[in-house]
Amino acid sequence: MLSLENSDNRSVREKNRSQILQAIKMQKAVSRIDLANQIDLNPSTISRAVNDLEEMNLIQERKVGESSGGRRPVLLGINKSAYHIIGVDIGATKIIAVITDMQGNILEKDYYRIDYSQGDMVSISPELVLKSIATVLSKYQENESITTDRIIGIGVGAHGLVDRDRGKVIFAPNFGWRDIYLKERIEEEFDYKTVIDNDVRVMALGEYWFGSGQNCDSLICINAGYGIGSGMILNGRLYRGHRSLAGEIGHTTVTEDGPRCNCGDYGCLETVASGPAIAKMVRTRIKRGRKSQISDMVTDINKITGELVFQAASKGDDLSRQVLQEAGNYLGIGIANLVNIMDPELVLVGGGVSRAGDLIFTSLRQSVKNKTMEDPPPINPVKLGKETGAIGSSVLILEELFKAPESFLAKVRG
Ligand SMILES: [Zn+2]
Repeated sequence: MLSLENSDNRSVREKNRSQILQAIKMQKAVSRIDLANQIDLNPSTISRAVNDLEEMNLIQERKVGESSGGRRPVLLGINKSAYHIIGVDIGATKIIAVITDMQGNILEKDYYRIDYSQGDMVSISPELVLKSIATVLSKYQENESITTDRIIGIGVGAHGLVDRDRGKVIFAPNFGWRDIYLKERIEEEFDYKTVIDNDVRVMALGEYWFGSGQNCDSLICINAGYGIGSGMILNGRLYRGHRSLAGEIGHTTVTEDGPRCNCGDYGCLETVASGPAIAKMVRTRIKRGRKSQISDMVTDINKITGELVFQAASKGDDLSRQVLQEAGNYLGIGIANLVNIMDPELVLVGGGVSRAGDLIFTSLRQSVKNKTMEDPPPINPVKLGKETGAIGSSVLILEELFKAPESFLAKVRG
């Protein structure tokens, strides 16, 4: 029979392992001595935890570099190929499913995209999500170099309001989902442990674990694409808010007499800086008689997309450049408000709009600078690009593994 003392011991040991796993992850490779200097545990406890983690195959020794004394120090690093994770990013117009290793490297990928401007009538459905996971899994299984099933779970970042504890998408306005028990559906179909969270929050997680936000304990990640949202890491943890509603920067007011938003209000950031908003601003001005090269790039001006505006702008089209500059300016106002409240170390911007590069970032940075009292933090594009959300989704599973390695593996590996 398990005594109370034993189960206490067990949880203490798991806590120690978790602490050491995190420390090793943060530094890529670290010697036992450095580890002992950094962690406030006695050396034998550290050594025991390191051995446990080696036995679990989660960390391994690497011989790298040369110490000053001439003997090569043995460094410990995460065993990146120990386990694999499925990460799924469900956005307003696309599903990206990836399989990653323990360091966020993509092994397989499935990219499904809906193009409304080309008349696609489908909308993102739970069935399409299941199909995308099945596709990436079959690509993975076809790969001969992968002989055993190392997958330990599925992480999902979904657009909209997500109840992580119940595994449910409460409301996804862009594709009309209400109360979809997505976790349960995925677990029934694939039999892997599944964790779901909001799509922009997982972007922040992805950059924090594997992108340019590593070792950066307070960062804000903005997604500016079909919609606009943000994810925040505060003191090394994802901030969700009281009802998991934190980060809705897209619905903060940046121009009181602005256009009407999907949410019913007027002048939300989303109405003046999202991909569809940018396209609409260009369309409206052409309809009012403004000349633009973009009119020659489409047969029907109703088919102008945000992407097309970026293309025209990079070819020097005045109207497109001007609209992008305005959008960047508005994004900057929204970001400056967050910066003034949160004082982050770093701001990252991802999503389709961010791919316009300097055409957006120049006016964006200037506008943040104008509206913050001290020099603002660096504002950069996300490092992981289009896959930031999918890689971040796989971090949802890695987080659980790192929190309590032994019990997590016992649960998912049987
Ligand atoms: Zn709104």
